[in-house]
Amino acid sequence: MDDDDLDELLDEVEKKFCSKASAASSGVKRNKDENKQEEWSKNFYSCCRGDFDFPCGVFVCHFETFCALRSASRCCPVFISGSSVTNGVGTATSKRSCDQLRCVSCDFRVLMFDDSEWDASCDYLFLRNNVPDRQKLRAKLKKRKGLRAYACQCNWLSSSETTDLRDQPQLRWVCGKHLD
Ligand SMILES: [Zn+2]
Ligand SMILES: [Zn+2]
Repeated sequence: MDDDDLDELLDEVEKKFCSKASAASSGVKRNKDENKQEEWSKNFYSCCRGDFDFPCGVFVCHFETFCALRSASRCCPVFISGSSVTNGVGTATSKRSCDQLRCVSCDFRVLMFDDSEWDASCDYLFLRNNVPDRQKLRAKLKKRKGLRAYACQCNWLSSSETTDLRDQPQLRWVCGKHLD
């Protein structure tokens, strides 16, 4: 299945569920199917940190196949790591480090610096003024073999080992999709 097919499928899912969701919010009694859908969407959300804001404002996963398709090019779970770990699509069995991270709080791409760590003086204001200028950001980066420094405009982290982002709830980072 190529990307166009996938987009079409997503459109379809979105239309279908969004109309149902607005029916549900207007007080129409929900049937078993809808409860099931909600269950799936919850599972998918907790698995992939819900990187999908559909125009109607509802996050959904219509069916399991959709989840599987989606996660083919998105990390699930999402890992960050030290600089020795290979970048790519992370899965439960292949713990690659995501290099396509995006922050849903500030909406910036997450920048990565290999063999570096953030100086203790790095703060919110510094990032605010300098992200995404990699050159300027280096002012508060120290060389540190094996570590990988991450930053968006609102948060930063120096990582030494592979970490599941679900264990770092303060980081609102999601996998922004890998193109292969
Ligand atoms: Zn990823
Ligand atoms: Zn951010």
